[in-house]
Amino acid sequence: MLNHGRKKRGDKAKPILELKPGYKDSMDIRGMPTTVCPCGSFVWNLKAVFDNDTGNIAMYFMDMECAKCGTVATAPTPEDYDVSDL
Ligand SMILES: [Zn+2]
Repeated sequence: MLNHGRKKRGDKAKPILELKPGYKDSMDIRGMPTTVCPCGSFVWNLKAVFDNDTGNIAMYFMDMECAKCGTVATAPTPEDYDVSDL
């Protein structure tokens, strides 16, 4: 049976707060906004502020760190995307 890379039943997943970057191969690639780390991870650690009325992210800092390897990068903003063609 295929499990598509998922952990087998019974494997313990780490609590999210215990997931720390390794930093062994981390880099500083700040400058060009990105959504994907060179290591392949799409998950970032960054500081954010939530809107008290809606719960949406109201503000975030643009320096972010890859949750897997610790590479620091620049977060994208909506202005980085030209959505006029959609
Ligand atoms: Zn990474």
